[in-house]
Amino acid sequence: MKEYDVIITGAGSAALECAANLSNSGISVLIVEKDNEFGNKVCGGGVTYLAGGYDIPDTISRSFSSTKVFVNRKNYVIDFKKPLKTVLRREFGDYQHKVISKSRNINVLTGTEVTEIKRNSVIAGGCEYFFKYLVGADGSDSIVRKYLGLRSDFCYGLTYTVRQRYDDVIWKVDPERLKTGYLWVFPHVETMNAGVYFNSKLVKPDVAKAVLNDFLTDMEIDYTSSELKGGRINCGYRGMFFGNIFLAGDAAGLPLKTTGEGIAGALISGREIAKKIMDPEYKTIEMKQYLKLKRKRELPLNILETFPFLQNTAFRLYASLKKYK
Ligand SMILES: Cc1cc2nc3c(=O)[nH]c(=O)nc-3n(C[C@H](O)[C@H](O)[C@H](O)COP(=O)(O)OP(=O)(O)OC[C@H]3O[C@@H](n4cnc5c(N)ncnc54)[C@H](O)[C@@H]3O)c2cc1C
Repeated sequence: MKEYDVIITGAGSAALECAANLSNSGISVLIVEKDNEFGNKVCGGGVTYLAGGYDIPDTISRSFSSTKVFVNRKNYVIDFKKPLKTVLRREFGDYQHKVISKSRNINVLTGTEVTEIKRNSVIAGGCEYFFKYLVGADGSDSIVRKYLGLRSDFCYGLTYTVRQRYDDVIWKVDPERLKTGYLWVFPHVETMNAGVYFNSKLVKPDVAKAVLNDFLTDMEIDYTSSELKGGRINCGYRGMFFGNIFLAGDAAGLPLKTTGEGIAGALISGREIAKKIMDPEYKTIEMKQYLKLKRKRELPLNILETFPFLQNTAFRLYASLKKYK
């Protein structure tokens, strides 16, 4: 069959959450993923309370109630509103796929790249597939977003996966060298993910890499046998609903520019798009709340991008106000 009610490009967090919310409905769905695996994504795997009602099972995740924050030479411990969960993206991808695997209305094509978008069809693996709705959930370099002619706004992340058990979540800001960026350590079940997030308009990748290596050396974390991996994160939101074409997750530019956190936006948008497809009158309430928060969080960035040193003061003030020194 080459005609579907919904075609979803990509099988990342946004796509699989969208499909899960369309499963066991009368709506025929085709997911087209270029990779052979699910969740094969360079990512820290930290999921905050922003993911809302989405519950990642304890069997594949770890849960943390606080983080250490390093602001130059000062350290703080800040409690999270709700626990931060960490999950390996491959395991999360497999889990999300398992959720939909028994749904008769969901078809998944892996190892097949979408190479062209047309008004009512996509070309993938040399075949043409027709849709009523197209969901572009194909990440930061989305072909669907390009088809719609939308500009992107990229930030970057570089990470090492280190084979070492670790028990602290760590955040470090270094406005002098990283400007508005930051460093992180997210412990996983058997490994840890350590990385740096930065705006490449303000910081060169070589500098970000050097800051990350210095940080890990200071922390006595041996990263030398790990491979440095990187990826870009599209934070430029320009809308999600374009006639019968919808954008989700990074393809929609939903990650928060302040932190690069994008899993929450991916899950929420996937879920909301599914509801909108099933009920065109649906008001996407959860999405609107997320977008409001994104705008609010990103507002101070313009000031920090001009005066990065204010980040030190802002973080210290924040930590003192929370009295978790
Ligand atoms: C280094 C780094 C660290 C990060 N750490 C965190 C973190 O700790 N917490 C957090 O919340 N966010 C983090 N993010 C951001 C997070 O990874 C993304 O926001 C999230 O993965 C977006 O999910 P998505 O489903 O929109 O896209 P993706 O997860 O990127 O999935 C897109 C899928 O589409 C497929 N695809 C792409 N093009 C095509 C095509 N033409 N045809 C078919 N398939 C295609 C891809 O193979 C992929 O499987 C990080 C990002 C980076 C780069």
